Amino acid sequence: MILAFDIGGSRIKAAVWDGTLQPVGEVATPLGDTAAFTAAVAGFVTGREAGIAISIAGVVDPVSGLGKVANIPAIDGLRLGPEVQAATGLPVRVLNDADCFALAEALQGAGRGHHSVLGVILGSGVGGGLVIGGQVVTGAGGYAGEWGHGPVIRGEFAFQCGCGQVGCVDTVGSARGLERLHRKRTAELLGSEAIIAGWMAGEAEAGETMALWRELVAGPLAMVVNVVGADLVPVGGGLSRAPGLVGYLDEAVRVRLLRRTKGPLLVPAECGADAGLLGAAMAGVAAWG
Ligand SMILES: [Zn+2]
Repeated sequence: MILAFDIGGSRIKAAVWDGTLQPVGEVATPLGDTAAFTAAVAGFVTGREAGIAISIAGVVDPVSGLGKVANIPAIDGLRLGPEVQAATGLPVRVLNDADCFALAEALQGAGRGHHSVLGVILGSGVGGGLVIGGQVVTGAGGYAGEWGHGPVIRGEFAFQCGCGQVGCVDTVGSARGLERLHRKRTAELLGSEAIIAGWMAGEAEAGETMALWRELVAGPLAMVVNVVGADLVPVGGGLSRAPGLVGYLDEAVRVRLLRRTKGPLLVPAECGADAGLLGAAMAGVAAWG
């Protein structure tokens, strides 16, 4: 049995995997106190687990094990694996949440049966993870699959990004990015859901913003697909839930690829809100069977 956690800035969600995923509860994330954090995780241990697998909203260096978790000071800059192992006596794996999303989709979701799966997240940020042959590719420093950052956009729609660079896909492709594009074009403050609803209703201004969004996102994503050779790209995150949006982006990505594809390449993710828990559990199964 694997004990899996999905740890975000507000909640710690726990589940056990024993052939199926069964949620076992959640608690508020202790943000400032490392001992309280590890105690919260250890509180779910029953003694029947083979190991603990953790999905965190941060990046873990695969060599040093050091985590960067900006919104949870209690574990930022620590080796979370050894901390939890010391508190529980169990072996621990810690993975980035986008990598867990990609692994869940590759093994249990939309990417089942595909060799090279690039999981893409379009939500409060733009991110992703790469799974090849059923294995997460973490890459140097743990950053593989993170296609949201890098100065690729020039001109009037190049915005300052929180990562320190200018013109990242994250600044235009995320929900806030969509709002930023609309405001730059029209001087109108409109939420991403209203923009998408307007586009679906055939409104011209919202449609132009969505076309611009697609143009700016599709080029970089097509290049990433060329580089990693993805068979299939499950798309998750808040924007992906808008009916028709993934298909709309898919059309623009596919015409920019070197490979000609008959069917869709970008498809809606299938694992939903449990993707973090499920992906962590899959990593645990790979480690401890
Ligand atoms: Zn950036």
